[in-house]
Amino acid sequence: TADVQWSLSWIRDVAARVSERKSEFTTLDREIGDADHGENLNRGFTAVVERIDGLEQPPGTIGDVLKLVATTLMSTVGGASGPLYGTAFLRASKAAAVPELDGQAASALISAALEGVSTRGKAVVGEKTMIDAWAPAAAAAAQSAENGEDAAQVFAAAAQAAAQGAEETIELKATKGRASYLGERSVGHKDPGATTTALILESAARTVQ
Ligand code: ADP
Ligand code: MG
Ligand code: MG
Repeated sequence: TADVQWSLSWIRDVAARVSERKSEFTTLDREIGDADHGENLNRGFTAVVERIDGLEQPPGTIGDVLKLVATTLMSTVGGASGPLYGTAFLRASKAAAVPELDGQAASALISAALEGVSTRGKAVVGEKTMIDAWAPAAAAAAQSAENGEDAAQVFAAAAQAAAQGAEETIELKATKGRASYLGERSVGHKDPGATTTALILESAARTVQ
């Protein structure tokens, strides 16, 4: 079940995997950015885990957990991805102000995150940003929920679509964010933010029991 305990496991899993893979993300960002995406996210999720560890009482809803994630990322992650992921988790927290998610609610959480990134960053699909992972993820999640699938299946569908979307950023030319300064030279490299978006959704899927 996708309950409050799951949301804590999800976020701890994200933190562990970001820490393991941070040099991979920084390497991607070295190709088309400023070589800090891994460190940025690792700093943020390390701070998130510290705050989770310091909680005096268990959070009541999934939204409470995601709000803690949002505020911590906003205050600790520099660069574009801090406010973008911060807004994604803040919107997601509002969509998930419940103790447990069914398939529809899981889909709503992902759509809300996409809306947050879109509102904040003003990018659309095809600009070689994390939107190219969030948008197909939200579409796959909506389709899965529509088919009556549960939260585990919805997150699995979203994770798969996000990973594919991230792969497909390789061929795209960046027109938003720091990578857009490279123009045509951004083609042939995978977008770091789309790659970490896939990680976040993969963690959500693998931690639902
Ligand atoms: P910075 O570029 O400020 O160093 P990061 O390296 O942490 O920040 O994050 C870079 C990632 O942010 C990019 O790979 C891209 O996915 C994402 N990004 C940048 N600008 C936008 C935007 N306007 N909309 C959506 N995502 C964006
Ligand atoms: Mg960077
Ligand atoms: Mg930077």
